[in-house]
Amino acid sequence: MIGTIAIIGANVAGVTTAAELRRLGFEGRILLFDSEAAPLYERPPLSKALLIGEMDQACEAPLLTAAELADLRLDLEFATLVRGIAPGRVELSSGRQVDADVMVIATGGRARRSPAFEHRDGVHVLRTEADALALRAALSPGAEVVVMGAGVVGCEVASSAIRRGCATTLVDVAAAPMLRCLGAEAAHVMATVCQQAGADMRFGAGIAAVEGRSHVQGLLLEDGERLPCDVLVVGIGMAANDELARGAGAEVDDGILVDDACRTSLPGVFAVGDVARRRAPGGGPARRVETIMNAQVQARETAAALLGLAPPAPQPQWFWSDQFGLNIQAVGEVARSDRVGWARPFDGREGVLLHFSDDRLCGAVSFNRGREMARLRRLLARGDDQTPEALLGDPDLAGAA
Ligand SMILES: Cc1cc2nc3c(=O)[nH]c(=O)nc-3n(C[C@H](O)[C@H](O)[C@H](O)COP(=O)(O)OP(=O)(O)OC[C@H]3O[C@@H](n4cnc5c(N)ncnc54)[C@H](O)[C@@H]3O)c2cc1C
Repeated sequence: MIGTIAIIGANVAGVTTAAELRRLGFEGRILLFDSEAAPLYERPPLSKALLIGEMDQACEAPLLTAAELADLRLDLEFATLVRGIAPGRVELSSGRQVDADVMVIATGGRARRSPAFEHRDGVHVLRTEADALALRAALSPGAEVVVMGAGVVGCEVASSAIRRGCATTLVDVAAAPMLRCLGAEAAHVMATVCQQAGADMRFGAGIAAVEGRSHVQGLLLEDGERLPCDVLVVGIGMAANDELARGAGAEVDDGILVDDACRTSLPGVFAVGDVARRRAPGGGPARRVETIMNAQVQARETAAALLGLAPPAPQPQWFWSDQFGLNIQAVGEVARSDRVGWARPFDGREGVLLHFSDDRLCGAVSFNRGREMARLRRLLARGDDQTPEALLGDPDLAGAA
């Protein structure tokens, strides 16, 4: 019988695991460790409300209220780095060892850095509240800002920098913003949106060198163009904090490899959220997903598996982003599609794009149309078999009904 569960990492994956364990009736001891002193905040506002200045501090968007936290009856150890795990034992950086029957690693990731560009003032990454506050202080009106990497967070930073009055350039080796997660059609819509909002853009472009001795002053692109730059934001994704599992001998490959119940290759050790890389059924490539919804779903699966209960029903992947005045949502597997069509053509503010694979709905992207997205998420979860023609001609999805 499980008496004590140690959860390492107290952001959305770790906290949801704890909450779900209690909801499912676990009455034993739950230890929750985090290296940050105040880790219980949501990260999405870091690139949006906090950067723009609509929020002062990350704690204004708490993961849960003080009353909800108290109800969970957790043994919290914050400002406490876990430096190792062994069977039945968690080892803290102080040298203290804590016994636990099972462990859940929810250590997420850290901003990926580019060593070539470090060691200069004016170079920023964005993962934590401290990163966001430092970046906000640098985003003064008129500053020349270059965002390297036009993924979701990079585009959000560019949007916020423009709101703060900065002259902002997005640089990416890809052909359009957020290409990987939105697919080509919606990414090209986003390129127009970014441009109309005032972002300068260099796509298909790499950075060859950073100029400036102690403070960044300019960037040299691979094609020889020079961009002035006071603030460089390196937005090239995250590196998984998988060292604890690696050190204990678990299978790790840019993330901790887990099965469909988030079990690692070590008995009694689970991994959830951004740090986990799930093996595909049937031997396809394992995938690591960096979204709030994925962390929450995996936390629920882990809690159910720990207590020997049936797993929750599977759900399609889903994420949202707020940038350039748009609420953008994507659901399903847009990368798998062989056909796309607009259920509601994008008119500069709103739109719903459907993705199909083998004449079945496999994903969708919406712009300022959350209501239609809620329906599409349900359709995908149920696996409803409607023809592309029926869906593309559906007045409800077109927002007419
Ligand atoms: C700026 C930004 C904006 C985002 N916006 C969105 C969005 O709009 N929509 C969306 O779906 N997703 C968004 N995301 C992604 C989302 O925030 C992540 O998917 C989510 O935070 C993952 O949660 P996690 O708990 O797995 O990991 P993390 O949030 O990384 O938390 C891991 C925790 O583990 C702790 N930790 C790590 N190592 C140790 C150790 N050895 N000992 C003790 N503690 C440790 C860390 O301090 C941290 O608190 C955004 C991310 C960022 C950075």
